[in-house]
Amino acid sequence: MSAQLMDGKALAEELRAGFKARVAALEARGHRPGLAVILVGEDPASMVYVRNKVNACEAGGMLSRKIVYPADTAPETVLAKIAELNADPGIHGILVQLPLPRQFDEESVLEAIAPEKDVDGFHAENVGALAQGNPRFIPCTPYGVMKMLEKNGIDLMGKEAVVIGRSNIVGKPMALLLINAGATVTVCNSKTKDLAAHTRRADVLVAAVGKPRFITADMVKPGAVVIDVGINRLPPEDGGKLCGDVDFAAVKDIAALITPVPGGVGPMTITMLLANTIEAAEREAK
Ligand code: NAP
Repeated sequence: MSAQLMDGKALAEELRAGFKARVAALEARGHRPGLAVILVGEDPASMVYVRNKVNACEAGGMLSRKIVYPADTAPETVLAKIAELNADPGIHGILVQLPLPRQFDEESVLEAIAPEKDVDGFHAENVGALAQGNPRFIPCTPYGVMKMLEKNGIDLMGKEAVVIGRSNIVGKPMALLLINAGATVTVCNSKTKDLAAHTRRADVLVAAVGKPRFITADMVKPGAVVIDVGINRLPPEDGGKLCGDVDFAAVKDIAALITPVPGGVGPMTITMLLANTIEAAEREAK
């Protein structure tokens, strides 16, 4: 049996089409949603992510402001810009592309963003609100995963959910969302003993590891829902293509539902960034 695909690209398009009316309604009231994206340095992957975010904003009729600094910029310069954007009524969302160069303390930069403009949901106040089950901004990647589960009619109440990865960006907020939805949640990391014993219990398995084809068919329970967050570039000798953390070709014969890479979680992440920015503008316009 071959698993059903969870099509993130199609869902992203559907959601973005729905955003248009919300953006138009805000604009009619003089509140065009605005997102500021700060990039420090020239990390090639970060440059692509920032370009995609800015383009998605503009395609959605929203305002975007891209602010780029050289890699040797002093943290004070970026903090001063964040303070300026915090006070700018035309900007509803502020995002600092991670990772930052070594001279930065990432946490203090994220904490400098006004919580009501923190559309990445990384500010401690927003993380706390999510942990309490009363989120204001949900981090975009796990938010996108939840939307895909909802779209595919997956009821999480009482399900065994296993998340592999405990990063602040994906694993931890993912686990909190699954807990809030009533799942029984296990979070694994690089020190977890007998990882497969955990993954094989999962009705819903979320892989956010960053290792190509790490989840093999023998690690998956038949009929499971498998969410592949990983984005890995294979070496040139292996085709140089993008691939996920899941051995898709083998796992699709075991799982009931599976996300492809590319075309799964990836397109949902930027979509949820747009959703958070519109939400921020709607709250501001109230
Ligand atoms: P990360 O910060 O590097 O975290 C990776 C996590 O995987 C860590 O918690 C690590 O454990 C765990 N891990 C590593 N090796 C493991 C092993 N052998 N067994 C079990 N756990 C292991 O990465 P991230 O930022 O969360 O991203 C994860 C992946 O998602 C990457 O491929 C990234 O490119 C992708 N990503 C995709 C999107 C999207 O839009 N689709 C968005 C963000 C990230 P320790 O904590 O013990 O080190």
